[in-house]
Amino acid sequence: METLRSGWLTRGDKAKEFELRFAEKIGARYAIAVNSATSALHLALDAIGVTRGDEVLVPTMTFAATAEVVVHLGAKPVLLDCLEENLCVDPAGIEEKITPRTKAIMPVHFAGYPCEMDQICDIASRNGLKVIEDAAHALPTRYRDRLIGTIGDVTCFSFYASKTITTGEGGMLVTHSEPIAKRARMMSMHGLSRDAWDRFVTESRQYEILDAGYKYNLSDIAASLGVVQLDRCEELLEMRTIRANRYYELLQDVREITLPTVSSYARHSWHLFLLKLDLDRLRIGRDDFLRQMNDRRIEATVHYRPLHLNPYYQTVWGYTPEDFPVATDVYERILSIPLYPSMSEQQQERVARAVRDIVEANRK
Ligand SMILES: *Cc1c(COP(=O)(O)O)cnc(C)c1O
Repeated sequence: METLRSGWLTRGDKAKEFELRFAEKIGARYAIAVNSATSALHLALDAIGVTRGDEVLVPTMTFAATAEVVVHLGAKPVLLDCLEENLCVDPAGIEEKITPRTKAIMPVHFAGYPCEMDQICDIASRNGLKVIEDAAHALPTRYRDRLIGTIGDVTCFSFYASKTITTGEGGMLVTHSEPIAKRARMMSMHGLSRDAWDRFVTESRQYEILDAGYKYNLSDIAASLGVVQLDRCEELLEMRTIRANRYYELLQDVREITLPTVSSYARHSWHLFLLKLDLDRLRIGRDDFLRQMNDRRIEATVHYRPLHLNPYYQTVWGYTPEDFPVATDVYERILSIPLYPSMSEQQQERVARAVRDIVEANRK
């Protein structure tokens, strides 16, 4: 309400405040508020100099956004297979995909579980690659003693409606690098030489166009929501963690499903809670299982159809199901069940009951 009443609806000091608080929370030097994580990923690749003819390594097990921005810059998305255990990128498959044109790798902290960052950063530094993290699921995920956002060259967060904190639509680009931060900020505002903050402070209306940029800034209305949501970040995590633990209690004895595994070095954000079906023990496939959940009015869904199983990546980039055997196989077995901070015990019990009933009725 303060923002609405102030009349300063965008390009004012709320977005700046959100950036400063976010950088402080993560322990990063620079944070740039933008209108989506997709925009942040696009700016990140531009800022490290990805251009026509380059290659960027992207896990196939991700949402459309991670790879499409590579294509927008005229580069090739070179896909990577995942680990069966946590659906994060398999570090063992990275090096064989590196060529002289490879510029970067984009780890995705799947469902909010951290990728093997020590191994990934080691491969990147030995091969001169930048690390651009897609952390759309990963606030506030921790890898060993570090928060996600303090490890790679650039980390991109999402504040889309379904993510762990939200501004409706929104994102944040975080980096330790001053040149990357400067380039990303400039390109986020039409490639202009000054941002709104400078103008506000100096009262100067002068600017120059330095490059053909984008319109990717976050409004002050959205940033106001972000400031308040950020304050609740740890509280919301605790609420999700309690509910994740409750699912373990309710479901861990069901032999036909596998629950997520979490190593001691990881703090999961619990953005998503995935089940893996043991299809050898069931008479139905995942799609049938999902339909039966949905018939019970439970919004289970699939995250995600791997990129290489989508028409665009098959027809334009020539990928086939056999290229990534782990992702192809695990895709047939995964489903996500509802998990959100305000979910009641009764609601979780109803979800668990549905899973048990469907398993019961379709056991081999
Ligand atoms: C949601 C999501 C994005 C995109 O986030 P937006 O803020 O909607 O642009 C990118 N990557 C992954 C893995 C996501 O889940």
